[in-house]
Amino acid sequence: KKQITRLPEWLKTPIPSSNNFKKIKNDLRGLNLHTVCEEARCPNISDCWGGSDKSAATATIMLMGDTCTRGCRFCSVKTSRAPPPLDPHEPEHTAEALSRWGLGYVVLTSVDRDDLADGGARHFAETIIKIKQKAPTMLVEALTGDYAGDLDMVKVVATSGLDVYAHNMETTEELTPFVRDRRAKFRQSLRVLEAAKAAKPGLITKTSIMLGLGETEEQLWATLKELRKIDVDVVTFGQYMRPTKRHMKVEEYVTPDTFELWRQRALDMGFLYCASGPLVRSSYKAGEAFIENVLK
Ligand code: SF4
Ligand code: SF4
Repeated sequence: KKQITRLPEWLKTPIPSSNNFKKIKNDLRGLNLHTVCEEARCPNISDCWGGSDKSAATATIMLMGDTCTRGCRFCSVKTSRAPPPLDPHEPEHTAEALSRWGLGYVVLTSVDRDDLADGGARHFAETIIKIKQKAPTMLVEALTGDYAGDLDMVKVVATSGLDVYAHNMETTEELTPFVRDRRAKFRQSLRVLEAAKAAKPGLITKTSIMLGLGETEEQLWATLKELRKIDVDVVTFGQYMRPTKRHMKVEEYVTPDTFELWRQRALDMGFLYCASGPLVRSSYKAGEAFIENVLK
């Protein structure tokens, strides 16, 4: 069997310059905010944080700690059955820090907390409510887990005042059992997205799919059709990158042309917008895309 050992040219991006990071660290100094952008040294940081228009700048914040109760085969977040308790001050502190930062669009995400009775939904919702109190013009996207299929918890988050509800399918139905934690189910994730829309008609729903895990064209078409059926508005595609040798391997490096093809196909199917490219992450320039496609 052919072994993929080398990165194709289009994935060899320069690591963001240390100058850029210094500026970002300065912006964040004293705010005590932990961004995924910075901690994961995301290659998109200058696209998301940069630009002349700060009202469109996007950053991703991780809530509810750094330890997940699940263990997906593509993800490098650490796992434990009993992560430390939630910080009850986190909603207030996060809202305060974000309002001082003056960012245009924030993506709030979290680890999965199957150890908590409500999966952390109320903590998540409280954070959104506080952000909207302190920074009413800031656009908020919540990227949540599946709350183990508890759709009442989806509703708690979906009705908290947010602008976009995101939940990632990650892959096709066929590959889900090999890619995601066994508690994550393809159909359950569809129900989460459907419930978010039902909880607040008109709410923008969004999902993200990784390519390069061995999915077929046919499977991808089928996934997109399921998403359109439940009125998901936004889809993003990015290349799966193996975090360590202990994680599943990359089956294919999908070319930029193929990513562009899937972007076109998604738009033709009626998705409101689609970010698609080898380095795209679900939060990639999300602020700019929202402003251009939803507000205008
Ligand atoms: Fe941050 Fe997401 Fe943009 Fe990366 S893609 S810089 S994680 S907002
Ligand atoms: Fe990673 Fe999310 Fe899976 Fe937890 S649930 S292991 S954070 S992808």
